[in-house]
Amino acid sequence: MQATALIEGDHVVLNGRKWWSSGVGHPHCRLLIFMGITDCSAAKHRRHSMVLVPLDTPGVKIERMLSVFGSYDSPFGHGEVSFTNVRVPLDHIIAGPGRGFEIAQGRLGPGRIHHCMRTLGAAERALELLCRRSLGRVAFGKPLAELGANADVIANARIQLEQARLLTLKAAWMLDEFGTKGARSEISQIKVAVPNIALEIIDQAIQMHGGAGVSEDVPLADMFAAIRTLRIADGPDEVHRALIARLELKKYKPRCVASVS
Ligand SMILES: Cc1cc2nc3c(=O)[nH]c(=O)nc-3n(C[C@H](O)[C@H](O)[C@H](O)COP(=O)(O)OP(=O)(O)OC[C@H]3O[C@@H](n4cnc5c(N)ncnc54)[C@H](O)[C@@H]3O)c2cc1C
Repeated sequence: MQATALIEGDHVVLNGRKWWSSGVGHPHCRLLIFMGITDCSAAKHRRHSMVLVPLDTPGVKIERMLSVFGSYDSPFGHGEVSFTNVRVPLDHIIAGPGRGFEIAQGRLGPGRIHHCMRTLGAAERALELLCRRSLGRVAFGKPLAELGANADVIANARIQLEQARLLTLKAAWMLDEFGTKGARSEISQIKVAVPNIALEIIDQAIQMHGGAGVSEDVPLADMFAAIRTLRIADGPDEVHRALIARLELKKYKPRCVASVS
């Protein structure tokens, strides 16, 4: 947020550093999107611009690749990238100066729904693995499905998964009907709810698999690592909860009434 994209004549000059630049490790990556302050005196949401930067522009350096839970996150990891006096033509600013936030907000809403849809798919796969294992593995003379509270675990997972799916469907419907702004609360609600529910189901599936659950024989450990990062990436849970609460409270705050003297 503190990086700069300053206009000098017919060029824009970029300075800053961004870690967790997803996709930069991909062998086909050629173009970066840089976001930085163009006019610090403008209104808060009109200060930043988004700029297209070819990866081979002088001054762009991939400082290092970051691992997630000890391994390079697919596909091809996330990089820490520095930009030192990087100059690109003015027409590389997307949609014009000061429109960075507008573009980010427009893109992030549908992106979050997409993350949640993929997360629901992973949770569904985890529940399937959990059920197959609980039927196939016999311990103490019975299939795991008949031991302890395992039937409750399965039922609760199905209930939570359906709740998460329907909330996601509602958020997508709100986005279609009322745009990103009108669906802000619902998008934040699924951004919190879906990864947390998926993680709980994946965790139960790992448990039901015993040692196999944390091995590479089943995809559960990978799923857990990937979805755990979603509680941080694209805004931590707490930031989304703060937005949901703010929008909720706004409904009940007294409106300002102009006083007549
Ligand atoms: C795997 C991965 C991929 C990423 N890919 C990208 C990418 O492609 N592009 C990109 O721009 N960014 C990317 N990010 C960065 C990501 O958006 C940030 O990590 C995320 O927004 C959190 O910011 P932060 O790391 O600075 O954490 P901080 O802002 O330091 O937050 C740390 C913690 O502080 C607490 N906290 C923060 N704010 C509040 C609050 N308002 N109320 C209560 N508690 C709070 C929360 O517990 C939070 O988890 C990626 C991150 C990860 C992990």
